[in-house]
Amino acid sequence: MRLVLLGAPGSGKGTQAQIMQARHGLPQVSTGDLLREAVTAGTELGRAAQVVMQAGGLVADDIMLGIIRERLARADARRGFILDGFPRTQAQADGLSTLLQDLGTPLDAVVLMEVDPEVLLRRLAGRRSCRRCGRVFHIETNPPAPGDRCADGRAHDLFQRPDDNEATVRQRLSIYRERTQPLIDHYERMGLLRRIDANGTLDEVDARLEAAITPR
Ligand code: AMP
Repeated sequence: MRLVLLGAPGSGKGTQAQIMQARHGLPQVSTGDLLREAVTAGTELGRAAQVVMQAGGLVADDIMLGIIRERLARADARRGFILDGFPRTQAQADGLSTLLQDLGTPLDAVVLMEVDPEVLLRRLAGRRSCRRCGRVFHIETNPPAPGDRCADGRAHDLFQRPDDNEATVRQRLSIYRERTQPLIDHYERMGLLRRIDANGTLDEVDARLEAAITPR
């Protein structure tokens, strides 16, 4: 299955992609995670991306398409993938179509995760990630369970993303409306779009997402 999760920052794309990855064995391909890895590694890409991410902007389309081309060429993506945070612009969507056409493996579905604005802000404010394993939690609604440990057996080392501050969040939401929301119509026209109500608990959203991707 080749899937795109579409939705505003804080709509739960990463959280649901991690659940689906564990259940279906399909890799979560998060361009945000790939960029954060480059930032941590201190590569040239990482240094350039860090400035853009901190300001809540978008990294250039040609760079993002290069990253995706490399990532989808890896063996674990052959059976399918869950794209989380890509595409974010029309040029990225077009580039992805061309790439998948060349590979003979078109998308199966694009799931739009619809969330009320005040829920988005609450999710972003409480979001924490584990520095080591990358799992995403929420301090109120989804904290690590008492016995839940990181892959190395230690407790999760939670931190707040630097771009989850108020000013950057405002900019990210505005960029989402301007650059990414038009993709909803684009994928609707292609007959790929499925909408789900992504308000509610993790389990409720998970159930709606599974129902949306189950062949009818
Ligand atoms: P995310 O983890 O998906 O919220 O992404 C964090 C940040 O990484 C975004 O605010 C952008 O600055 C950058 N980024 C992630 N994915 C993309 C993309 N597909 N195109 C451009 N920039 C991206």
